[in-house]
Amino acid sequence: MATIIDGKALAAKIRRQAKEEAAALRAQGVETGLAVVLVGDDPASQTYVRAKHRDCEECGITSFDYTLPADTSQDELLALIARLNADTAVAGILVQMPLPAHLDAERVIAAIDPAKDVDGFHPMNLGKLVRGLPGLRPCTPAGIMRMLEEYGIDPRGKRAVMVGRSSIVGKPMSLMLLAADATITIAHSSTAELEEACREADILVVATGRARMVRGSWVKPGAVVIDVGMDRDENGKLCGDVAFDEVAPVASAITPVPGGVGPMTRAMLMENVVFAARSQAR
Ligand code: NAP
Repeated sequence: MATIIDGKALAAKIRRQAKEEAAALRAQGVETGLAVVLVGDDPASQTYVRAKHRDCEECGITSFDYTLPADTSQDELLALIARLNADTAVAGILVQMPLPAHLDAERVIAAIDPAKDVDGFHPMNLGKLVRGLPGLRPCTPAGIMRMLEEYGIDPRGKRAVMVGRSSIVGKPMSLMLLAADATITIAHSSTAELEEACREADILVVATGRARMVRGSWVKPGAVVIDVGMDRDENGKLCGDVAFDEVAPVASAITPVPGGVGPMTRAMLMENVVFAARSQAR
């Protein structure tokens, strides 16, 4: 039976460290504020935003809540971002995605000062990731790398398969595994013989949004399986992209859903805020 990678416990440790670092920065007169911008009243987004404010409170990070009506114009949103870019009390800016359809998310992300882009989605920060330069990294893949490190799983020389190629998970995850010297396959909805590709993996990371898609027979015995998915099954129960009950007996280590990648993503945001504050103070 696989080791269950406890993202919840590790996330709590990261929040404790972020709290200590935020306090140390404050003692030097450096602000660690996070501005969270939410446009509209999508219930899932509201839940995520509330969680971010709670995490900030726990870490002693001041959070600023900007909840805007669903009909906010592109210009109004860009004007707010310009104000936040200039505000020295704000070390990090997060615009909750998805934005309402009339807003251009790419333009909004590009308008954020890259030094305050705590989601790590700005083209400048993604470019730094490609070039192997230090910078703000997207929280989900950064959290996964931290879990691997904590559990003594070194990607070097291993075959890693990333199922999913989104800009927030699949692509940055692949680059981080590559930077850690893994040999990478990136699979997606047009990949032929996906099951065979997955069976090659020593480290299998799945981010498709397809409930329990990866079955036990898709996994090489002893593989490490990281499940990014946050899906609902046919009974409305939260589950991942991996059929946990089938895969856990085959894998050597696996992340549960909930309690795996999700809490780590949240915790890495706090770490990014501290990183952003420290870099701007230099
Ligand atoms: P996304 O933007 O929808 O991307 C999904 C990716 O999966 C795409 O690249 C897509 O391929 C691929 N895919 C879809 N169906 C597939 C199939 N049947 N076979 C192979 N590949 C397939 O999703 P995302 O934002 O990366 O999120 C993925 C999942 O992770 C979702 O469940 C999301 O809720 C969850 N998530 C969790 C966290 C967390 O903190 N736990 C963070 C972010 C996301 P194409 O590119 O060819 O369409």
